[in-house]
Amino acid sequence: MMANNIQDIRTDFPILDREIDGTELVYLDNAATTQTPESVYEVFETYYREYNSNIHRGIHTLSHEASVAYEEAHDRLAQFIGAEGREELVFTKNTTESINLVAYGLGLRNLGPDDTIVTTEMEHHASLVTWQQIAELTGATIQFIRVTDDGHLDMEHANELIGPETAVLSVTHVSNVLGTVNPVAELAELAHDHDAYVVVDGAQSVPTRPVDVEEMDADFLAFSGHKMAGPTGIGCLYGKRRLLEEMDPFLYGGEMITHVTFDRSVWNDPPWKFEAGTPPIAEGIALAEAADYLDDIGMDRVREHEDRLAQYLLERLEARDDVTVYGPPSGEQRAGLVSFNVDGVHGHDMSSLLNDRGIAVRAGDHCTQPLHERLDIPGSVRASFYVYNTTDDIETLLDAIDDANAKRDAYLRSERYHDAIY
Ligand code: PMP
Repeated sequence: MMANNIQDIRTDFPILDREIDGTELVYLDNAATTQTPESVYEVFETYYREYNSNIHRGIHTLSHEASVAYEEAHDRLAQFIGAEGREELVFTKNTTESINLVAYGLGLRNLGPDDTIVTTEMEHHASLVTWQQIAELTGATIQFIRVTDDGHLDMEHANELIGPETAVLSVTHVSNVLGTVNPVAELAELAHDHDAYVVVDGAQSVPTRPVDVEEMDADFLAFSGHKMAGPTGIGCLYGKRRLLEEMDPFLYGGEMITHVTFDRSVWNDPPWKFEAGTPPIAEGIALAEAADYLDDIGMDRVREHEDRLAQYLLERLEARDDVTVYGPPSGEQRAGLVSFNVDGVHGHDMSSLLNDRGIAVRAGDHCTQPLHERLDIPGSVRASFYVYNTTDDIETLLDAIDDANAKRDAYLRSERYHDAIY
């Protein structure tokens, strides 16, 4: 499919025409932030040109138009992940805020020293640090499902850990370092057998594959707009309607109430109960356009495209003896990202050498320090793909890695020469 119309897709993203010091940009940092198609920022611009206004507070035309568009954006995002409607979809700032909302609204209020929070060794700090903090504040115990050497969750260990004391299972759907696609439906079933709440970090899955909250039976699902062709400053928290109705708010103020007296306040219905103050209106409306853009391509096709590129890079890197690749090997189900290290070249040096060739990748611990500790490495280089990337991009990356190796060899030779002379 996409091989036929990838050039059309690329023209939707004018930033891809940029040059970095005279070299064409090759953008392979999509797991951090994806680029935005023109249609999305046109929606943004139309909002500011034609109906910029605060929502829900005015009966004038602009406010009405903004309110309707913002409310409908909730429905659109709910539909994108198979939820019922706006009542189940809260707009937040990003995945991090979505997870914090559940952790504070539900975890902090309900957990105690007899409870256990089960999570995994491959969590992003957005989830790991947050639940660690809730454990500290409530006296609950936090436990981590082990990651196997080939980058999967150890399901035997998951079965051992998830039990009657488990109050929360928080798991990432797709690892932002290993590319592993976790069996979230199976884990959710295990957790629900013990009446635990299931929180899924969908930051890397919602943008890259079809995700259906009913199929996976998640109680909560968090994701970010800026990783799915949408703007920054907007994220989503899906929650089952009953749970959002029961859950306490996290932020207090205007819009999240129906009635206030000097003595007490009555909360609004979800999702507004969780959206205190003026929300990211333009961002929410533009994110709905991003969902349209992705659905026009088809999320099955997005997944196939990502998978094809990941396999292409994996096979080439695995064929080299100077590269270590992390996560499941080629041939297995993977998301469109590959983390690796090249012998003798520090990740930051590699990233900088690649930048000299116009290639944007990310190096470091990718907000997963405990996972890197588990892998016994200080960091890794990550190349990650989206709908506009091609196998040519990967060839450019591989050439640049060769170039970096040549520089390393020349450097080592000069060191030896230096040692021999002095
Ligand atoms: N979880 C995962 C798996 C991620 O990859 C990221 C972003 N790197 C986050 C959470 C946090 O997303 P945000 O910074 O948008 O809150």
